[in-house]
Amino acid sequence: MDKIVDSKSKELIQQTFAAQKANQYTIANCTIKERKAKLKALNKAVEFTYRDKIRAAMMADFKKPAEDVDLNEIFIIKNEVKEALHHLGQWTRDQAVSTPISLLGSKSYIKYEPKGVCLIISPWNFPFNLTFGPLVSAIAAGNTVIIKPSEMTPNSSAVIKEIVEELFEPNEVAVFEGAVETSTALLELPFNHIFFTGSPGVGKIVMKAAAKNLCSVTLELGGKSPTIVDETASIKSTAKRLIWGKFLNTGQICIAPDYLYVHESKKEELIAEMKNTLVKFFGENPENSDSYSRMVNTKHAERVMGYVKDAVAKGAKIIAGGQSNEKYIAPTLITDVAKDSSLMMNEIFGPVLPIFTFRDINEVIAEINAGEKPLALYIYSSNNKNTDHILKNTRAGTTCINNNDVQFFNGNLPFGGSNNSGIGKSHGYYGFLAFSNARGVYKQIIPGAIEMIMPPYTDFKRKLIALTLKYF
Ligand code: NAD
Repeated sequence: MDKIVDSKSKELIQQTFAAQKANQYTIANCTIKERKAKLKALNKAVEFTYRDKIRAAMMADFKKPAEDVDLNEIFIIKNEVKEALHHLGQWTRDQAVSTPISLLGSKSYIKYEPKGVCLIISPWNFPFNLTFGPLVSAIAAGNTVIIKPSEMTPNSSAVIKEIVEELFEPNEVAVFEGAVETSTALLELPFNHIFFTGSPGVGKIVMKAAAKNLCSVTLELGGKSPTIVDETASIKSTAKRLIWGKFLNTGQICIAPDYLYVHESKKEELIAEMKNTLVKFFGENPENSDSYSRMVNTKHAERVMGYVKDAVAKGAKIIAGGQSNEKYIAPTLITDVAKDSSLMMNEIFGPVLPIFTFRDINEVIAEINAGEKPLALYIYSSNNKNTDHILKNTRAGTTCINNNDVQFFNGNLPFGGSNNSGIGKSHGYYGFLAFSNARGVYKQIIPGAIEMIMPPYTDFKRKLIALTLKYF
């Protein structure tokens, strides 16, 4: 049976929602200067006041190196804030649209208004960046927000709550910690927008709950992101970037390369170079490395090692790594993996990279297209024709050519999946749009032509309508 929140917590959730609903127009009508001041305060808290606490929380949650916290949590939030501060005036400005000649005497424009009371549900793998990133967009657009961070990273969630409570009144931004039961209680409420980051399975639960209130959703989901290394790729740089992008955060990244196809003529060279890079990055025993983090908990470590055992039982060969110890899993490269093994039937979300070879790129494309649309598809190639061919014949939320993961860092790019890997986009302007309603406004200035064709219909008016149809 599902766990439920106790009645006191449920009451507090409902009271907070009601308070935000009552306060939404006050928040919406804050000046651009006031919105910017809130964003600056958030950035100051993350980058300076709470930086050490954030680092300590992430170390306690999954031994995340401080350098990774700086780069992949704080720097990302800082960039989101920077982008919003720079462009907010332009994003929020009424946008004139042209007027067709048949509507002469009027003008039309788009007004970007906040959606209202929003819910952000975030995952554990980048707790700060995936909570405060969307929060920046929501504040920039003028919304009130309730946040539900992940229960899997309790130290990080506690710091998120502390920061929000220091900076905001609960009738503007509030945090409710907890697991499924807290999410479920929140999802019963008629929010105006839900921004969810997590797995496709839970994404479906969120969308179903949102449908009850016809609430719009942004779903930032996951799935299996393939990487293709063709016969023209530069192997040294490919190996370096792949090892970084796959084993950062112990592979617990929605856009990490999930599995790899390498052209058969480059297989041996790439594997040798990847093995060298692993030693360069994490030493002979990565368990002792300060640059390598842990799985978030033993349950997830057991899940990933279960996939590896299943693959090995079906004939796979571990060619690097394979060791594990509680929350530690060594960076693992594995070949000869059966396509029906659990390693290939699930998003791995851990430090294991299955490697396949190919001769004909069209077979790879057919295999990718037979699965769900990935959140990211990576191509390593020095041949533009090959790259274009793959781009034209596949679908993915994002693509990075000759690198991986770094598309997330460019706030000018829309970030998000497609169908099973997500609905809607985030980051920068796209994040602002996700939390805004583009309200179409039409203003009649002087009597328009339409007034000449209003009932009762006479022969003259019928002629005018016929002329309108023919010429406008
Ligand atoms: P998850 O879906 O298990 O949990 C995400 C959030 O949903 C958490 O706050 C959790 O408490 C809540 N939740 C869990 N079960 C729920 C339920 N039944 N009803 C309502 N809420 C529920 O995901 P996770 O394990 O935290 O994160 C891993 C997944 O997230 C992976 O699939 C990964 O690819 C994806 N992800 C996507 C992105 C992206 O930007 N697209 C980023 C990070 C992670």
